[in-house]
Amino acid sequence: MIDLHLHSNASDGSDDPADVVRRAAAAGVTTLALTDHDTTAGWDAAAAAVPRGVRLVRGAEFSTDAPDGRGGRVPAHLLGYLFDPAHPAVLADQERLRGERLRRIRVMTGRLRAAGYDVDPEGIAARTGAPVGRPHVGQALLDLGVVSSVGEAFRTFLAKDGPYYEPKADTPIDEAVATIRAAGGVPVWAHPWARTRGDVIEESVIRDLAARGLVGIEVDHPDHTPDDRERLQALAGELGLVVTGSSDYHGTRKDIPIAAETTAPDQLDALLAGATGAEVIIGAA
Ligand code: AMP
Ligand code: FE
Ligand code: FE
Ligand code: ZN
Repeated sequence: MIDLHLHSNASDGSDDPADVVRRAAAAGVTTLALTDHDTTAGWDAAAAAVPRGVRLVRGAEFSTDAPDGRGGRVPAHLLGYLFDPAHPAVLADQERLRGERLRRIRVMTGRLRAAGYDVDPEGIAARTGAPVGRPHVGQALLDLGVVSSVGEAFRTFLAKDGPYYEPKADTPIDEAVATIRAAGGVPVWAHPWARTRGDVIEESVIRDLAARGLVGIEVDHPDHTPDDRERLQALAGELGLVVTGSSDYHGTRKDIPIAAETTAPDQLDALLAGATGAEVIIGAA
């Protein structure tokens, strides 16, 4: 079983990187990828925890924005696998985004505090050193007893069209593709049609990016409908893109279990064939 998109508490998951690896192995996963938002801080701890018979692909999920194909722009997530984590362009992008994430969360928590909710996700960010995001605020609201789940916080206080929301300035997706490729990694468009999160891109945008270095698209994802999966699969076939499937596990911050969606072995091989920036970790312990 292959699951290529999991988060740890190096970003907005709830588990330590080592626990993510152990839990994936316990769930029967033989190849997993650690893909925290805008950081590689969990790479070493995850590598040290890989058991015999398990392979770890290390990556990250880059916060980007893409043309929507209708004249506007929308947030987009780009998975990068096996890039050199010390490449200057990677470091610069991740540092900029960490600062931007903190700025934006300060604005959102400022609005919440003004409305009487005593949330301090900066405390969470400072403790963990993680790039802070809305799930951290959701957790803070849950800890306060203001909501009964992080999911409820997303539907109410954290909603894009709500009074507390502040956007963050993400990296243009074509720049992020170029950065990942320059660092020897392979870029895969994460959940391109996760429509419940907001407006999504037209098919033409994937076509354009495929011509500019995109290697794959995440087709099987919990936020994708059966119809959309079928269309994305056909598009990938037409464009020669690798097709992945992944859970997007966030521990207790989301309801989706590890390996809820999986990637086919031949697609994993095709994906890894193009990567030169970092090694796959093969468990020996
Ligand atoms: P942000 O990038 O800070 O705007 O927050 C987006 C993050 O929230 C992504 O990592 C998503 O995985 C996560 N997310 C989106 N919707 C939900 C939800 N309904 N419940 C929990 N997490 C969510
Ligand atoms: Fe997340
Ligand atoms: Fe994502
Ligand atoms: Zn993710």
